[in-house]
Amino acid sequence: MSCLFGPVPSRRYGRSLGIDLVPMKTCCYDCVFCQLGLTPKTTCERRDYIPIQTVLAELEAWLAKHNEVDMLTLCGSGEPTLHAHFGEVLQWIRTKTPYPSLLMSNGALFFDPDVRRDAALANRVKISMHFWDEASFQATVRPDAAISFEQVYEGWRKFREEFRGLLDIEFFALPGLNDSPEALSRVHQLMAPLRPDTVTVNSAERPPADSCVRAVSAEQLAHLRSFFGTVACAQQAAQPSEPQPYSDDALLALARRHPLTPAQFARYFGVPEAQITATLQRFADADPYAARALLPHEQS
Ligand code: SF4
Repeated sequence: MSCLFGPVPSRRYGRSLGIDLVPMKTCCYDCVFCQLGLTPKTTCERRDYIPIQTVLAELEAWLAKHNEVDMLTLCGSGEPTLHAHFGEVLQWIRTKTPYPSLLMSNGALFFDPDVRRDAALANRVKISMHFWDEASFQATVRPDAAISFEQVYEGWRKFREEFRGLLDIEFFALPGLNDSPEALSRVHQLMAPLRPDTVTVNSAERPPADSCVRAVSAEQLAHLRSFFGTVACAQQAAQPSEPQPYSDDALLALARRHPLTPAQFARYFGVPEAQITATLQRFADADPYAARALLPHEQS
């Protein structure tokens, strides 16, 4: 399967080509809200999950044929900084293309100086902060045993000192876990020294890893966005300027990396929703991500 997917439309980032560097659910976290499902086994092992030469060859071939994106984004099936050579991909984007790069990371490995050095090659980095101490860290993202809250936060602090690009922070609102006034105040206090350029607040829209996770109400979401000074909601997909070429493979590839509702898929590809639903139903037995796309989605 190709490591490239999309372009995926996003209100904040425009048309973004996704570069997926790790196999499905290769992650150092097992977030309760993960839209990709449970992490079978968390890991902090950094290695060439996909040979870097394969990734760069795919990018070279893509660049020879396309020039219609706003951003190249490292994201997808898990944590991109677990790929030992993700920095080479960011360096390739810098030197070979006119496009800005975005690293969508949980930021857990930023305590490692090599990861910070390579992450700083991105024009823009998004990290995730839904917790404020060790207990909330464990409850919300269920990290690998090798990582502690102190270690992660210290890594972010150092990265902010070294990084000259744009830093976005995502806060995922989890009713009962991190939405009390005390919790919000603590998170807010810890965000301030990181000087984020933007803070995004998201809530469950797609079926989460843990079925107990609920969406916050629309009123609470509006309050949180105002509280954190949020300017956009990156997780909501915007309609692309023109439909993308449809094939069953293109639909399934997108469903694995960027789950949408059947109606959103239909707008994305410019085909009837009934056709999308029928295709997802046809593949649902063999492909759990097709099955997930058919589940009812919570509205925030
Ligand atoms: S939400 Fe991101 S960081 Fe959390 S488990 Fe899923 S892929 Fe990993």
